[in-house]
Amino acid sequence: MLNGRHFLHVPGPTNIPERIIRAMTTTMEDQRGANFPKFTKPLYEDLRKIFKTKDGTVFIWPSSGTGSWEACLLNTLSPGDKVLTSRFGQFSMLWMDMCKRLGLDVIDIEVEWGEGVPLDKYAEHLKNDKNKEIKAVLACHNETATGVTSDIEGVRKVLNDTKHPALLFVDGVSSIASINFEFDKWGVDCAVTGSQKGLMLPAGLGILCVSKKALEATKTSKFKKCYFDFQDMLNTNPDGWFPYTPALGIMYGLRESLNMISEEGLENVFKRHHRLAEGVRQAVKGWGLKLCAKEKKWESDTVTAIYVPEEFDSANVIKTAYLKYNLALGAGLSDVAGKVFRIGHLGDLNELMCLGAISGAEMAMRDVGIDIKPGSGIAAAEEHYRETAPALPND
Ligand SMILES: *Cc1c(COP(=O)(O)O)cnc(C)c1O
Repeated sequence: MLNGRHFLHVPGPTNIPERIIRAMTTTMEDQRGANFPKFTKPLYEDLRKIFKTKDGTVFIWPSSGTGSWEACLLNTLSPGDKVLTSRFGQFSMLWMDMCKRLGLDVIDIEVEWGEGVPLDKYAEHLKNDKNKEIKAVLACHNETATGVTSDIEGVRKVLNDTKHPALLFVDGVSSIASINFEFDKWGVDCAVTGSQKGLMLPAGLGILCVSKKALEATKTSKFKKCYFDFQDMLNTNPDGWFPYTPALGIMYGLRESLNMISEEGLENVFKRHHRLAEGVRQAVKGWGLKLCAKEKKWESDTVTAIYVPEEFDSANVIKTAYLKYNLALGAGLSDVAGKVFRIGHLGDLNELMCLGAISGAEMAMRDVGIDIKPGSGIAAAEEHYRETAPALPND
């Protein structure tokens, strides 16, 4: 039993603010009650602001992000359709794997972990696809396993430059509501997210934003689907209803989450994430360690994956931090298991919370014998936060 608060610094689930916890601690209501649409309709409106879309259609599934991946594929494509994907971490790999398991014909570009979506290779495949057989292009906006953010606007540009009509599907599970995301401007056709990351909620909602073009594609889709059929949602959602019992408790939390984001201002939320992330990166520099992200342009503002020196096992750092300091760090997954640990820095966070995670990681690394100068990371982060923290309001 450890006293005090638990430091949750995995990149999802993230910390749930008190306001949201209170909003969710309530009795249920009749989801067919006359007043229910007054609650649901504004949720869609406010989610469209998060996605930055005017006309996109938003669906809220009782599911996790993985369910939104599946909903996106099943409703817009047909078995055997060709899709262009790339993998450079656990999550981009899993979505690619889902495509294969569903029977899609997958162009599967393997990229070194630490890099992101390979625009040049995408351009090559799209240019060579003379018969326009590629029906969809998949891109993981923020690869949570490696702390790598990709250039989605760049993917759109490649599609435009090659005049390719493929749909653009983006996994934004660990970016949306934390890192700038522009559904309309980037011409995204399906954007996938979930509740337990930037939206500061428990897991349990899969959220999907869909373009007109993707809705059009549902007419020719030949996949069998039932629970995730867009049509059942389209028949009921516009009037504020659901085809089945929605996850009411989390949706009350979502209402509060969207209020909080709107009060802070979405652009300020992005700036805060950038500032906090930069402090974590300064700490890594102070330790003299290496990021998993290979270049500055790939660095993620929601999660940082850090290599431990080769002779050490990162799992021991994570275990020590957890058992000794009540700090949950993210594990290294698949290819980087034992090699990296991750500090999640998204959602409800401030400078001192990040310093808690940095300090705990620093102590745990020293405990397992890694030669880190005490205070080296924490000092670097502190200086960054001191220099960049906004002054008190009305000061
Ligand atoms: C967390 C995550 C997922 C998976 O979401 P679940 O809610 O666990 O199903 C997918 N993609 C990315 C990038 C993620 O970070």
